[in-house]
Amino acid sequence: MIRLSFFFGIFLVMAVWELLAPRRLLLIPKLLRWSNNLALVVLNSLVLRLLFPTAAIGVAVFANKHEWGMSYIVDFPFMLEVIFVVIIMDAIIYFQHVMMHAVPVFWRLHRVHHADPDFDVTTGSRFHPLEIIISMLIKFAVIIFLGAPVISVIIFEVLLNASAMFNHSNVRLNKSMDQFLRLIIVTPDMHRVHHSIEADEANSNFGFSLPWWDRLFGTYRSQPRAGHEGMRIGIHEYNRPEQVTYLHKILWLPFIGKITDYALNRRYK
Ligand SMILES: [Zn+2]
Ligand SMILES: [Zn+2]
Repeated sequence: MIRLSFFFGIFLVMAVWELLAPRRLLLIPKLLRWSNNLALVVLNSLVLRLLFPTAAIGVAVFANKHEWGMSYIVDFPFMLEVIFVVIIMDAIIYFQHVMMHAVPVFWRLHRVHHADPDFDVTTGSRFHPLEIIISMLIKFAVIIFLGAPVISVIIFEVLLNASAMFNHSNVRLNKSMDQFLRLIIVTPDMHRVHHSIEADEANSNFGFSLPWWDRLFGTYRSQPRAGHEGMRIGIHEYNRPEQVTYLHKILWLPFIGKITDYALNRRYK
């Protein structure tokens, strides 16, 4: 319920903001793209509900009931523990995202996210169901390993959901506001660089909520070479709208074609 109401609330805010102050012109008619991207969101929710009915929160409750995980070994004040766990989980998401780009078979799944020819609030939830399942399993393992407090998991889930919608949205922020926000959260301009069709730009700015990991691990890139209005969004091999817009094509995308230079260890010069 908490997740769902946050999802709809923030979705609505970002959707209206996109109408009032758009950053780029969209290429594909919104109705067509949104109906397919949102159909994927509904499908993913159904798959998750079916496979993991209690989701991450249920795993946290279970781990705590059995006193599993690091939080039962080291003794931190509870508030500190809650904050630490949220930050650590965000760092793990960063590494998971890097892995999605680095390992060819994972890149096949993750290119569903990158093949979106436009970049807006619906791109933030456009993931292949198999990638969603893998992320969920990684999250479960992390929650159990850490013995994550339930409240940390709730905060993390809401934060990740909200920031994914915010940082994918097609909104215009003035430069100083963008620079200020980048100190604490990934902004749309920062994450848009990651959706560039250029491989070196796509392999930067992996962060989802906190912007610090990219700076710390050397994957930060401040702006796209062609500028935000001039840059091309998507991936080289699949950039015709009819290849990447419709739900059935999106679901089939991981299983076609060869792996190209986006996967880090497939870079041929
Ligand atoms: Zn990515
Ligand atoms: Zn993205």
